[in-house]
Amino acid sequence: AFKNIKTLPPMGVSHLTNLFQEDKNDNKVNLGVGVYRTEENQPYMLPVVKKCALELVENPDLNFEYLPVLGNPEFTKAATELILGKDCKAIKEKRIVGVQTISGSGALRIAVEFISQHLKKRTCYMSNPTWKNHSLILKQAGFKTLKGYPYWNASKRNIDIPKLLAALNEAKQGDVILLQPSAHNPTGMDPTKRQWKQIAQVIKERNLFPFFDVAYQGFATGDPDRDTWAVRYFVKEGIETLIAQSFSKNMGLYNERVGNLIVVLKDAKHFEAVASQFTIIIRTNYSNPPAFCSRVVAKLLTDEHNKKEWLKTIGEMVDRIKKMRKTLTKKLKELETPGTWDHIEKQRGMFSFLGLPPNQCDKLLKEKHIYLLNSGRINVCGLNLNNIDYVAKSIDEVVRQ
Ligand code: PMP
Repeated sequence: AFKNIKTLPPMGVSHLTNLFQEDKNDNKVNLGVGVYRTEENQPYMLPVVKKCALELVENPDLNFEYLPVLGNPEFTKAATELILGKDCKAIKEKRIVGVQTISGSGALRIAVEFISQHLKKRTCYMSNPTWKNHSLILKQAGFKTLKGYPYWNASKRNIDIPKLLAALNEAKQGDVILLQPSAHNPTGMDPTKRQWKQIAQVIKERNLFPFFDVAYQGFATGDPDRDTWAVRYFVKEGIETLIAQSFSKNMGLYNERVGNLIVVLKDAKHFEAVASQFTIIIRTNYSNPPAFCSRVVAKLLTDEHNKKEWLKTIGEMVDRIKKMRKTLTKKLKELETPGTWDHIEKQRGMFSFLGLPPNQCDKLLKEKHIYLLNSGRINVCGLNLNNIDYVAKSIDEVVRQ
């Protein structure tokens, strides 16, 4: 039965992680996988997340009964408010469907299934470049035509807004436009408010369908409210949209798979129909989502004291990332490494797009044991004061070769 099954090549970042683990070199540095690391290069459990989890475990009323198919309502409400803001008019008018998902990837997957099956859409535009899994999920769920809109301008090392807008102006009515509102993966470059307004205007005028992927809320500016400004603007403008939300990064809940999908409707009367279709999609995929960390997130977000502590921790994580950006830029300048490096400091979020060609990235990996994507994306969190000199010196050497 299995003789005609083809073996696919090893997949992206997890392959890179395997290679890193097998590498015996003492200088090796992992700048591949997008996870937060402390200054000591350790995984980070946010103290307030741990505190909420322990309190839940110790609660004598805790049980592991099934959740409803669409998830823990307390969680979806709190998560939705985190993105849209408590005062959001669409929430007050009950024009929102919130669905608990298997993290951000699960939110993207069920959203794309819904968009494909029920909104009958077949064409999606994604930023060029974008997270590799976007195109894989879209294809798997029935999208026939995937297009890129220009985003990264390699020579200027910023976002090519005129070309981006021109591409949207050529999209056909109803086409889906996948957008990351902040801390863009992989470039670390986000549009300004003015540019978001321009993007929203074209989307509105041409009747395109925006679909937001929010995987790094808080990581761009350190303030989760500011990071979703673009989403809130679109919703205020009365634009219908879907929003995929992940708590992997901003709560460090990577393997707990906690996410939320938000559907913003124009009219509350469509709530029941949309919710019922998500019920069948989820029921036929995995029946209902896992409960435990949805409770952790709800407990954290609905308690003022807990939330304050979380915001403080996000601020600290973002400060560490900024410090690493600044230090790497400074060191490359001190080494007089050919090229311009200010963009590393200007970029935001976990990632930096160095602007190195694939052959130099390959050399960093094979000769210097520095693991990064061959698009030139590094996870800035993988840098610390122990390895940053080595990384800067290695970049300098491969650039000069
Ligand atoms: N979207 C983007 C842009 C991402 O970078 C990621 C994580 N790498 C995700 C979504 C989803 O992550 P998760 O499934 O862990 O929530």
